[in-house]
Amino acid sequence: MTETVTAPQGGLHRLGIALFGGALALGAITLAHAALPRPEPIAPAPVVQPAPEPVVLVAFQSPLPDHAINSPFGLRQMPWEDAGRLHAGVDIAAPFGEPVLAAADGVVTAAGSAPGYGRMVEITHAEGLVTRYAHLGAVAPGLRRGQAIKSGHPVGEVGSSGVSSGPHLHFEIRDRQDRPLNPLYFLGRRFTEAQDLPVLAAAKVSPRVRMAQVSNIPESKRDLMVAKGLIEAGD
Ligand SMILES: [Zn+2]
Repeated sequence: MTETVTAPQGGLHRLGIALFGGALALGAITLAHAALPRPEPIAPAPVVQPAPEPVVLVAFQSPLPDHAINSPFGLRQMPWEDAGRLHAGVDIAAPFGEPVLAAADGVVTAAGSAPGYGRMVEITHAEGLVTRYAHLGAVAPGLRRGQAIKSGHPVGEVGSSGVSSGPHLHFEIRDRQDRPLNPLYFLGRRFTEAQDLPVLAAAKVSPRVRMAQVSNIPESKRDLMVAKGLIEAGD
């Protein structure tokens, strides 16, 4: 045995030499060498880039997160009307005074009163999308046209101003041509590109007319109801 073993594997080698003699031991050493893990070439550590945050064009959340929609977008016939008419938004019933929140980042483009809507706030968002918050009991103090507003900030409180049959929020989303869009296509969703906005689908109106269930007839509609014989004067 002239071969010099330099690798530190004494125990195994000695066992091999004692049992099988020189030639076999040489084989054992060769095998042991083959079994040694080869040092891996040291590759440069890959540079881990954090995944880029998706750029959010616009994200919508409910203006009254703890309350459900109780009257959807679509054709609706009120008891004092002869035919269905587009309910251009959704109604969310909530108690008087409940804070109404901005549904997305934007700029306040109206804060005041409008016929039918009563006290209302309008916000314009990315791509000209507009949200409206109507029948408010009050507009948030200090809220002014032209001011930037973040999603989730209060725009006012729930009321029953304008043509309304009880405390609720009438909430609309419109496109830049002022076409009403079904808010259900937007609430709880975020969009990264303008082409992802479901504007065409959301603008579709089903031909089905729903009869509205109204528990309190608005004062302004009472005379009409009486004239039609739908209610008795004084109801
Ligand atoms: Zn409504």
